[in-house]
Amino acid sequence: MDLRLHNTLTREKQVFSPQNPQRVTMYVCGPTVYSYAHIGNARPPVAFDVLFRLLRAKYGESHVLYASNITDVDDKIIAAAAETGRPVGEITALYERIYNEDLAALGVIEPNLRPHATEHIGGMIEIIQTLVDKGHAYPAKDGVLFDVPSMADYGKLSGRNRDDMIAGARVEVDAGKKDPADFALWKAAKPSEPKEARWDSPWGEGRPGWHIECSAMAKAVLGETIDIHAGGLDLIFPHHENEIAQSECAHGKPMANYWLHNGFLSMDSEKMSKSLGNVKLINDLLKHYDGETMRFALMSAHYRQPLDWTEALLNQSKATLDRLYNALRRMDVEADDVDAPKGVMAALCDDLNTPLALAELSALATEANKAEAPEWPKLKGRMLAAGRLLGLLQQDPEAYARGDAGDAKRIDALVQQRIDARKAKDFAAADQIRKALADEGIEIMDGPQGSTWRRV
Ligand code: AMP
Ligand code: ZN
Repeated sequence: MDLRLHNTLTREKQVFSPQNPQRVTMYVCGPTVYSYAHIGNARPPVAFDVLFRLLRAKYGESHVLYASNITDVDDKIIAAAAETGRPVGEITALYERIYNEDLAALGVIEPNLRPHATEHIGGMIEIIQTLVDKGHAYPAKDGVLFDVPSMADYGKLSGRNRDDMIAGARVEVDAGKKDPADFALWKAAKPSEPKEARWDSPWGEGRPGWHIECSAMAKAVLGETIDIHAGGLDLIFPHHENEIAQSECAHGKPMANYWLHNGFLSMDSEKMSKSLGNVKLINDLLKHYDGETMRFALMSAHYRQPLDWTEALLNQSKATLDRLYNALRRMDVEADDVDAPKGVMAALCDDLNTPLALAELSALATEANKAEAPEWPKLKGRMLAAGRLLGLLQQDPEAYARGDAGDAKRIDALVQQRIDARKAKDFAAADQIRKALADEGIEIMDGPQGSTWRRV
């Protein structure tokens, strides 16, 4: 079955054909780690985690190399360090850990490679030097700038005209630009900036620009031409446009063959973003919702479409997951080891159509709910295989039915209180706890091994 992906570069859905099916490469731009990530930031890692899983299913687990970086040097990090008086490295280590924990709760498989910008400064300097030598970059007062007019096909990814480009470019280094569209490759250190955020270079002490980081890391860990490069829609310009400019002018070959971009997550139809202040942090949401519910919600829209984040979406996602897990729970048998159903595979192979794949999964549950026992092993196997491909349904159905981890802890504590009350022969208190839990739909089961509970 062909995999078709929408390529931003060609503006069409194309059959995916890797350079080497034994080594399929994918790079997704990762976070700048200076504070908590919001649920909009989770959209690229979740969407492209589905792609990672699909590629592994198609080409074999050991034949797919997925890299996603950590940006651990940046203006915002330096500002956070200055504000809190804590060392840069402490801030980046803390928020990287939280980021990884948040993503793990959303069922995201760890990428094979997690390059850190600060580990690749040498590679960045090398590319900048090549660009200077080839006449694509020049030293200026505040660092080194990329010479945009030196690249004939600059702008091919975003298709922007020059005026838009100039208006849209982040004004990073204004002094000494030969052309208003030129952008920073190397930024000279300012006296106020900390030691840990400056490195020696042929152009004096400083630090890399954001775009060169990805050019250098992608090259170092995956190679000069990668198969898939992905990120959020807002990265098309200027970030990815500039990555292309740097890498292609330095290496003389395409940086990536397929460019994929996810749409925005919004709240009340406005892009969720820190600057607008309308963000829901993953870390906070996890206190109220199961990570799997949030993953399901993120997958409920096609990755290129906008998705509005609402409580109704989360409730709907939870209700659907409850139904899927109930179907699994009813089939109280060992599942057959089978491949993911064709319908689910076909949906994902059509530019990662997750809403259709989820509909297929729901249809499987409907079929399972009607099926007689002899069919259960096969149907349960299919549901679980589809779940593996989508990163869903991997919890034990009984544990799932007992509720999320936080709630389970509270219930465990009440069950323990009841045991203690019975030991103390305070049967009235014990009965009261049993009744209160029963009102919540929780049944306590007393057995020789002690007491357990389940939702009924
Ligand atoms: P940032 O921290 O803004 O650099 O974003 C990190 C990643 O999250 C990038 O790939 C962005 O494109 C993506 N991103 C940020 N906000 C949103 C959003 N509201 N919806 C979808 N993706 C987003
Ligand atoms: Zn990048």
